[in-house]
Amino acid sequence: MLDAVFISDLHLHPDRPDILKQFDLFLKWVETRTRTLYILGDFFHAWAGDDTSTAWSNEIAARLALLHEKNIKVYFMRGNRDFLLGNAFFKRAKITGLAEPALIQLGEQQVLLVHGDRYCTKDRAHQWFRRLTRNRWFPALFMTLPAKLRKKIVMGVRLKSETNTRKKADIMDVVPEVLTRHVAACQADMVIHGHTHQPGVTEHFYQGKKQDKKYQQYILSDWDAPPLILCYNKSTGFNFKLAGEGDG
Ligand code: MN
Repeated sequence: MLDAVFISDLHLHPDRPDILKQFDLFLKWVETRTRTLYILGDFFHAWAGDDTSTAWSNEIAARLALLHEKNIKVYFMRGNRDFLLGNAFFKRAKITGLAEPALIQLGEQQVLLVHGDRYCTKDRAHQWFRRLTRNRWFPALFMTLPAKLRKKIVMGVRLKSETNTRKKADIMDVVPEVLTRHVAACQADMVIHGHTHQPGVTEHFYQGKKQDKKYQQYILSDWDAPPLILCYNKSTGFNFKLAGEGDG
């Protein structure tokens, strides 16, 4: 039995039934295998507010709620695409919202959880967008706009982000110094994030009081292909698995 499973960047969208199918297979796999599921943002490709939910998104909420019935705790951290996801959705899906950043303890380790876009500081346009949308007043102000207009704006952001994928990969990358500064400030032993769609694990160091301190950076995969799932078990630690792979 796993203690925790981490996913992000599904970018669920009605035009991508293949990803939803992938997610259904994952839910079947996960429901007998873990006690906790962490979703670290960009679960939805676009979200204009909980009042714009549809039969499609309600169905997804219902599937998440089934995990609650199986006694699996689900934590949700918003990403840059679904930053407007709110309590109405959380309630319907029976999941718990998680602030960004979050520091959790797993075994002896302090684990820093973020979506990841905060470290992509070379992407100036996005950092501007992030400052605006993560301002604590923004969601409430934005929600005062008519739903139709909000949908239009969110779809506009979506199209813009799609042309962004053609931006130089270099601009979209995590800036290591920014990452390390944050991990050091949080005194974390490791960091888990998504957003860059470049799954893997990298080792870094930051200056500790007496000696350099080692930390791991785990990047979660997107779901364009069968995703790599980051799994944690107290005795075996962290490792990536393809959903559907056996335990161990
Ligand atoms: Mn993202």
